[in-house]
Amino acid sequence: MLAPRVRAVPITLCSVPLVSMRQLLDEAASGGYGVGAFNVNNMEQIQAIMEAARDTRSPVIVQASRGARAYTNDRFLWHLMQAAVELYPEIPVALHLDHGNDPATCISAIELGFTSVMMDGSLEADGKTPASFEYNVAVTKEVVAYAHARGVTVEGELGTLGGIEDGHGSGEVHLTDPEQAVEFVEETGIDALAVAIGTSHGAYKFAQAPDGEVLKMDLIQEIHRRLPDTHLVMHGSSSVPQELVAKVNQYGGALKPAWGVPREEIQLGIRHGVRKINVDTDSRLAITGAIRQVFVETPEAFDPRDYLKPARAAMQALIAERMGDFGQAGHAGDYEPLSLEEMRERYATAAVRT
Ligand SMILES: [Zn+2]
Repeated sequence: MLAPRVRAVPITLCSVPLVSMRQLLDEAASGGYGVGAFNVNNMEQIQAIMEAARDTRSPVIVQASRGARAYTNDRFLWHLMQAAVELYPEIPVALHLDHGNDPATCISAIELGFTSVMMDGSLEADGKTPASFEYNVAVTKEVVAYAHARGVTVEGELGTLGGIEDGHGSGEVHLTDPEQAVEFVEETGIDALAVAIGTSHGAYKFAQAPDGEVLKMDLIQEIHRRLPDTHLVMHGSSSVPQELVAKVNQYGGALKPAWGVPREEIQLGIRHGVRKINVDTDSRLAITGAIRQVFVETPEAFDPRDYLKPARAAMQALIAERMGDFGQAGHAGDYEPLSLEEMRERYATAAVRT
C-alpha cells in the first residue's frame, strides 16, 4: 500500500524535463540497442545511475515500483529526479512506474510527472492473483487512453514471471503466448510489451545456470517476428554475477547459490526486439557487498557516508558495465528529446503506432 502522501503538483525546475520512454525505445530500435531500466529507492541509487550515464554517455530509464514510491513518499522521489535532470542536462532520462497494479496507481504516477507507466494487468489489483486475458486487456486499454492523451508511454505485460518481490508476483510462471501477444497489442495500443520467457524477479532466478529449457529465448524471437514494431521488455534480467554473490557472503552474508540471466542471452534478446531491460537485483547485490565490506573491515566506522559512498560507487560501476553490455552507451547525444506535448500530438495523429 502506498503511504499517505500530499497531492503532488508537477513542477518544472529546469529547462530539460524528463523525456518520453517511447522516444527512448524508438531511438533504441533504430540504433539496434537496448536500454537498461534501473530501479531506485533513494538518492544514492539515482546518483549512481546518472553518473554512470554521464560517464558512458547513455540515455537511461529510471524506474520506481509501488514499494519505492511508498518508501520515498513520492515527493522525495520526484524532487530527486528533478535534481537529476537539472544536474545531467545532456542525458535523456525517462521516469517509469514499474508494475503498476491498477489504473489508479498508474494515473497517480502520471499526475506526479512520470513519463511512462507499466500497467501490469497480468495480475489482478492485489498483485498476486493471475488475471484473465479480458481483465488484462480492459485495464491496460484504460491506462493507454489516459496516458497517451498526456504523451505518456505505457508498458503492458502478458504472461507472468516467476518470483515474488516486494510482495508482488504470483510465484507462478505462465509463458507469453505469441498469438495472444498479437491480439493483446492490437487491442490495447501499448508502446512496449513485457514478455514472460522464464525469468523471475529476485536473486534466485534459476536453480542452476539457465539453458534453453528454462530460459525461452526462442519465444522472444517468435514474438518479435509477429510484432516487429512492438518494443519488448525483459523483466528480472539481472545477471547475478557470481563475484557479487561471493562478496556479500565473504563479508558475513548468507545468500544461497543464485543464477541470473547471462549477458549473452540479453544481447540475443536485443537482436530480436528487446529494447528495455529491467535490472534491480544486481544493484542491490553491489550495494550490499560494498556496505558489508566496510562493516567487516572498518567496524569502528559509523558515519553513513563511510559505507554509502562505496555502495554508490559499486552500483555506478555495475550500471556503467550494463550500459556497455546493452549497447546504450554513446547514444545520449543522438537526438533531441521531444516534449510530452509533442508526444501527445504524435499519439493523437497516430504518427506513432497506437
Ligand atoms: Zn518486473
